[in-house]
Amino acid sequence: MTISSGRCELSWTHNGSVGSATAGCVLFPLSEIVRCREIITTVMNPNVALIYRLLTGLPIKYNRAPPQIRSALLRQSSGFGIPKNFIKIDETRLALTDCFAQLGMKLRARKSPDLIITHDIDTRKGLERAEAMKSVEDDLGVESSWFIPSEEFPLNGIVIRDLAEGSQIGSHDTKHDGTLVHMRDKTRLARRLAKSRTQLEEKTGRPIKLFRAPLMQFSREIVNALEIAGYEEDFSLPSWESSNPVVMGGFGIQTSVPFHIGKMVEHPLSLPQDHQLLMIFGLSTQAAVKYWTQQASRIFSLGGDVVLLVHPDYAFSQELGDYKQLISSLKEMKSSIPSSLRYIRH
Ligand SMILES: [Zn+2]
Repeated sequence: MTISSGRCELSWTHNGSVGSATAGCVLFPLSEIVRCREIITTVMNPNVALIYRLLTGLPIKYNRAPPQIRSALLRQSSGFGIPKNFIKIDETRLALTDCFAQLGMKLRARKSPDLIITHDIDTRKGLERAEAMKSVEDDLGVESSWFIPSEEFPLNGIVIRDLAEGSQIGSHDTKHDGTLVHMRDKTRLARRLAKSRTQLEEKTGRPIKLFRAPLMQFSREIVNALEIAGYEEDFSLPSWESSNPVVMGGFGIQTSVPFHIGKMVEHPLSLPQDHQLLMIFGLSTQAAVKYWTQQASRIFSLGGDVVLLVHPDYAFSQELGDYKQLISSLKEMKSSIPSSLRYIRH
């Protein structure tokens, strides 16, 4: 590969030692690769908004502010509207892969695109409603992951163990207070994350390896601390949120393909979460189902993972018919992925 004057030249000379590769040269715009690198740099070093600092830095918890006001603030911060065409890195990856294909190079296959259903339980009310959603999933024979804060509200051991049955439990920090991104002391940060893990392990009797930060807090420091604290997989990074609360604006990695940071596996939240669709953009549950299924189809077509986040705290735990329709559609979509798309090339 050579890079010059704003473009990238992929060239390959057949020397008889590599399969059926043929000689050739393909031009690829360098700006595409530079843009991907800029996205990654921005995401690893988020610019925490002043309003977020104020709301989560007060002695009283941010969620004492009425949810209508918090939603209105987020709505105002969103200059992007409901996200569409937000997985730019995946598009670049596919274009680059096609360039290699033109040179006769068959790239290494990855695993089949996956469907990962996740839930964050933010409140006691959410925990009370969670089992109804779990029973829909049990009827459809699908697994999910439940992210629970270990000290935010009393954890009913029976309910937690019921949720863990056939599914997974992950940590949602100790408190849902949004302060992780402010913690500069690495040891203190890792200790707090490890505490949540061990508390949940005591409740479930199982190892806890998954994590998602409240309010989708994400930074290089948090990921490093997660690894020290004994986690293996993080779900805190959105592919794209138009109204991310930490930066009070658009934020995301713009890929739906999991990747590593150190030893941690990052699973981007590839579908915008229910809070954004229902509370910020005012969609009905029916409209959200329609939007999600359209976006999921596109993500699968680019070889990415569909990662869904639905809170039992919000409307879908009351609209179980719509929830069932959503999960059935996504399950059906995944099972009918054409074999040509079952492996991503990269
Ligand atoms: Zn949460």
